[in-house]
Amino acid sequence: MWKDVIKSIHNTNYSKLLLQAPIPGAATTWTQIVNHCVKDNRLQDIMNEQSLVLIGNGKKTMFWLDCWINNSCLAEHFPNLFQLSNEKEASIDKMRMWEGYEWIWVFSWIRPLRGRNIGLLDQLYAILSIVHMDKDEEDRLIWKDNKSGRFSVKSLCVLLSPEPSTNNGFSFVGIWKGIVPLKVEIFCWMAIINIINTRCMLVQIGILDSSESNCPICLVEEESVDHILLHCHKHRLIWSKIIKWWGLVWCCPKSFSDM
Ligand SMILES: [Zn+2]
Repeated sequence: MWKDVIKSIHNTNYSKLLLQAPIPGAATTWTQIVNHCVKDNRLQDIMNEQSLVLIGNGKKTMFWLDCWINNSCLAEHFPNLFQLSNEKEASIDKMRMWEGYEWIWVFSWIRPLRGRNIGLLDQLYAILSIVHMDKDEEDRLIWKDNKSGRFSVKSLCVLLSPEPSTNNGFSFVGIWKGIVPLKVEIFCWMAIINIINTRCMLVQIGILDSSESNCPICLVEEESVDHILLHCHKHRLIWSKIIKWWGLVWCCPKSFSDM
């Protein structure tokens, strides 16, 4: 239902809404989140890779601007023809008409096609010859990563999560033993996979300015996970005392996940 509400408010197509959403101007939390998502090329690559438009009656899909055939957008594949089209934002169903016993594609051009453009139009007809439409079905957006075809945030998060190799082979089994409170276990896990909202992270996702990345304790170095947990000289004093209480000698590891 929300998809329909947003669509009616913004009068926009759903795939365009997902991938070409305008970046809001106001400095709100949502602006920061949307900015981050729109600027994140990996997110857009995943959305392009995993989304598939299944054509039904063609009413919800834009002929030139949506990626609905051969995993590409016809406006990008045929830029010359797109520039000459009178119907740049038309839906697929508006580009076809019933003639005799068959559907035919109907184009309206700013000026008659000549020379190379006629050859391009033949190529376009060849691509469109495989299209099968069903007037009783609506166009649907399929999420390939889910067997049901439905989009899920969980699936997107898994696809966006860091590669296992970035954890340097660290075994997470040792964390979840119940020796410390659950919230401490969760904090350790977040530190190892580097998702604590340190100042470095907040700068990286565009919430803080790059001039605000320094550690608020020592004011000297950037506040990364390794810095706040290991390397900040004020915190190292605490570590030294703990190690001394245990009667041990240690060499401070390079990163938290090396501990
Ligand atoms: Zn510090």
